[in-house]
Amino acid sequence: MVGNAPEIVNLQQAQQSTIASAAARWLRLRSLQLPWGRRWSFLCVSARCIYCGGPGDLGAIDLCEACLATLPWLPPGGGGEARAVFAYQPPIDDDLRALKFNGDLRPARVLGALCAARLAQDGVVPRCIVPVPLHPQRLRERGFNQASRLARELAAWLGVPVEERWLIRRRSTAAQTSLPAAERRRNVHGAFTLSTLGLTEPELSGASRACIVLLDDVLTTGATLQAAGAAFGAAVSLQRWTVAMAMPAKMAKPT
Ligand SMILES: [Zn+2]
Repeated sequence: MVGNAPEIVNLQQAQQSTIASAAARWLRLRSLQLPWGRRWSFLCVSARCIYCGGPGDLGAIDLCEACLATLPWLPPGGGGEARAVFAYQPPIDDDLRALKFNGDLRPARVLGALCAARLAQDGVVPRCIVPVPLHPQRLRERGFNQASRLARELAAWLGVPVEERWLIRRRSTAAQTSLPAAERRRNVHGAFTLSTLGLTEPELSGASRACIVLLDDVLTTGATLQAAGAAFGAAVSLQRWTVAMAMPAKMAKPT
């Protein structure tokens, strides 16, 4: 996605700094508008940054502005059709693993808020958030869907609902990470179908262009998000977002 040339690295750092500053402003402002139920705990107990342990200074989120500025924000444009908020590198990769494998909700709360700040910067105003579903069998084994947990946090900050009934994973697929890139698209092709539950007639017919955000935790080849998005057909205007994009280690890493 990026090269090692100094001017490209400098440009990327400038873009990251701009994104981080705008995110900080949005989080502070939006914190004042959140429902009381989401704010009260931060009024009773001060926010604590999940990265440095210092006091939070961004409103109703356990994060400080200094740490927010060092996160691996991705500039717009990476990921093709799908857009990712962060590069899959520390501390974001650790956060997502803690959520996925330990069910740790604290990073999900922070990442959901940061996703909301990033979408707001892009002017994305969705009608709802649709998390990429797990197959029911995988859901029973894990006990939760990590994309749903991120979606709930994102949706709460944007003030929109989460729709978990629309998209159905009708086929259990091998874990994408276990497959070579060339086989990932075939693995998930046709794995998703759209339920008519909750979709309005104009949306089903394609007459409505309501924006819907399809959310997943990690993007590698983009095959899962593409297959899930294909299930919507022309029903809605779809935005594909992931929290993080995995990049080959040989690519330059944002600092
Ligand atoms: Zn901090």
